[in-house]
Amino acid sequence: MMDKIFIVMLVFYLAAFLYFVRKRMLVYIHGHQKNVLRVKKTFQEMTQKKSFLNVRKKQLQEKASEIFTLYDMTKKITEKFDENDAFLIFEEKLRENVDYSKCQFLLPDDENIQQIKTNKEMFLYSLKGRRGLIGYLAVEDIAEDQRETVVILAHQFALALRRIRLYQAIEKMAITDSLTNVYTRRHILERFKEELRRSTARGIKLSFLMIDVDYFKHFNDQYGHLTGDQILREITRVIRESVREIDICGRYGGEEFSVILPDTDRGGAKFVAERIRTTVAQAMIRAYDTMIRTTVSCGIATFPDDGKQVDELIDKADWALYRAKKSGRNTTCSFGVYGKKKKG
Ligand code: GH3
Ligand code: MG
Ligand code: MG
Repeated sequence: MMDKIFIVMLVFYLAAFLYFVRKRMLVYIHGHQKNVLRVKKTFQEMTQKKSFLNVRKKQLQEKASEIFTLYDMTKKITEKFDENDAFLIFEEKLRENVDYSKCQFLLPDDENIQQIKTNKEMFLYSLKGRRGLIGYLAVEDIAEDQRETVVILAHQFALALRRIRLYQAIEKMAITDSLTNVYTRRHILERFKEELRRSTARGIKLSFLMIDVDYFKHFNDQYGHLTGDQILREITRVIRESVREIDICGRYGGEEFSVILPDTDRGGAKFVAERIRTTVAQAMIRAYDTMIRTTVSCGIATFPDDGKQVDELIDKADWALYRAKKSGRNTTCSFGVYGKKKKG
């Protein structure tokens, strides 16, 4: 009996033990499965993250190369002070980054614009300045998805154009006399040095004219400064119209003008000076509601006959001008030449 009870209890304990072992096993297996699922999920998330990071990496690489291209282009383009040079830099960078067959830089008034606008093969981009359109870029055979790169680089090119134009305007202002629109004395002196260097190197002559308005003070006193200013403008116009494109005109001082005549001997300079003198003398100058006649006197010095340096030649032309004034005004005199004065 005791044996039976013992066996039953043993079986009971064994069954209970097995029951608990199974339960523990089930809990363990369940936990393990949960872990496997969690790891699987994490793995999937990580894989997704990896591919997202790869896309992001590619985007950042593209952005970095775009920024580097922009930086490099900006660096190179800021060294340029000429629009065509700046365009060459822009085109070089464009060629490195996108595929196209041809790119043109056109000014707003270019006659081909309308035709390009209707051409589907062309991508026309308007370059904008502070006060409106400053030009166009026409890019031929470029894919739709590459146009954004053109726009980014073109924007930088437009900024460069604005900077170049501003620089040119300031440079022009610095060397231009505001009343007469010819060169200032400082610029004339610089150009004189350059032209003398060139004439020396090429072994050719050069002449310098110093022109002074006769009795100008009298016109100012009689008609006022505004009329005086108008006379100066008109005389400048006559001087400019009497010389060649290559001659360099400037306002030397108040009512004194100077002209550099490259490749011109004494005879040639005298001819030009006489043309200026007679044209001024014959002109009826309209200054507001007054018609005025005036005259000029002119002194001429020639390189290398009268001197080899700028100062020397200016002094000689001044001397000749002084002699022209002394001999009655409305006269042209060459340094070192004492002829009979001519009037017309
Ligand atoms: P000369 O025949 O000897 O050259 O006599 P001039 O009266 O022309 O010469 P002067 O040097 O006595 O006078 C020059 C005048 O030019 C005096 C000055 O007021 C005037 N002037 C100088 N610059 C300007 C300017 O920008 N506008 C005007 N209206 N007058 C000027
Ligand atoms: Mg004077
Ligand atoms: Mg004078």
